Amino acid sequence: MKDKLISLKDCINMPDKDIYQTCEEFQKVISQMNAMEANAFGLETTEIDGVKVKIKDPYSNRELEAVSFVSNSYLGMNNHPKVMLAAIETIESGGLGICAAMPIGGKLSHHTALEKKLAELHGKEDAILFSSGYTANIGIYQLLFNKADLVIVDMYVHASIYDGLKNNTNIKICKHNDIDYLELVLKREQGKYRNVAIVVDGVYSQDGDLSPLPDVCRLAKKYGAFVCVDDAHGLGVFGKNGKGTADHFKVENKIDLISGTFSKSLGTIGGYAAGSEKLISYLKHGSRANTFSVSLPQHIAAATIKAIDLLTEEPDLIKTLWSNTCYAKTKLKNSGFDIGHSPSPITPVMIRNDKKALLVARQLLERGIYVIPAIYPAVKTNNSRFRINITAAHTACDIDKLCNALSDVNKTLNFSP
Ligand code: PMP
Repeated sequence: MKDKLISLKDCINMPDKDIYQTCEEFQKVISQMNAMEANAFGLETTEIDGVKVKIKDPYSNRELEAVSFVSNSYLGMNNHPKVMLAAIETIESGGLGICAAMPIGGKLSHHTALEKKLAELHGKEDAILFSSGYTANIGIYQLLFNKADLVIVDMYVHASIYDGLKNNTNIKICKHNDIDYLELVLKREQGKYRNVAIVVDGVYSQDGDLSPLPDVCRLAKKYGAFVCVDDAHGLGVFGKNGKGTADHFKVENKIDLISGTFSKSLGTIGGYAAGSEKLISYLKHGSRANTFSVSLPQHIAAATIKAIDLLTEEPDLIKTLWSNTCYAKTKLKNSGFDIGHSPSPITPVMIRNDKKALLVARQLLERGIYVIPAIYPAVKTNNSRFRINITAAHTACDIDKLCNALSDVNKTLNFSP
């Protein structure tokens, strides 16, 4: 099988092509995916009932029933009756949105209550809201650091952090979770900048591994660095009552800024950052993604507050997430699949061949399993995989179905030894 695929990256910045010629060239990427019936952008979900979905297949025009492993709703909050009711009641009493940015009348009591909840959750003085987790990182990093500063980022932090930092400041990309290398950089760059910051994800979204936060915080203290953690995948999963990775490692008070999203464990949409009162006040006034963009609709804020409350009111949700995670990892490992070393519900099933990954996904969908492959440039070459997201909403039966389908497809496509 010829493995090399043309990717979006090959089309961006072609020196001799204008915009329309670039778009024309990009159609080769689409054609090659269509030839394998594997363009994930063409798949449309027409019905959702928890993790049971119906997917409209553009290639055959059929509606395929499947168990979904693509959602980041680790606790099934997106479908929780109490979370939905909080949203519905708020819409009924106050409409769909305030349609104004925070500093120009867009701040409602729901926003203040949610900020307070998030600050309490992370043991911080205050919190700021954004319209998504992506926007939160844009807003934070555009404001906090500039050319007088150095930001040391783990190479696998989320794209939104890179996008927020782009062209604003000095960036040093650090080998993944390599504490010795981090110390080397901190030592070498000591005294050269106004601020040095270390930026990591609490849980890494592709491999599902955790940042060694106690070591990161120890080095930050030693070298006087500012620490930011994006805990998008840690909230609701790790720590007491799902307070996140910083709580799990008992280092919350050593982290300057925790950012995150509502679009994973909390089942809604929106982003945030929590920190000291003065730091958050500076962000609220200076962060362009906050001041120049509309505030979250109030029903989203109300639903998110309910979801945070449920982390403590219904502890069985987190228990079920972990028992499902354990069951799935054991079963996948025993079936012989390479699932890396993720200690979180994010479970990569390594394929290591882009073309095969696309073909396997297609075959799985035919067998009632919905997964999306991550291929280059989303992951490094020869690192293509499925990111299986185990959630509290799955049953043992769903997980058995996943393992059986993978084993079946492996017989023809040989992606696992
Ligand atoms: N940070 C991380 C680590 C993420 O994985 C994501 C989502 N993939 C985001 C931020 C962005 O969150 P959202 O989708 O809510 O914009």
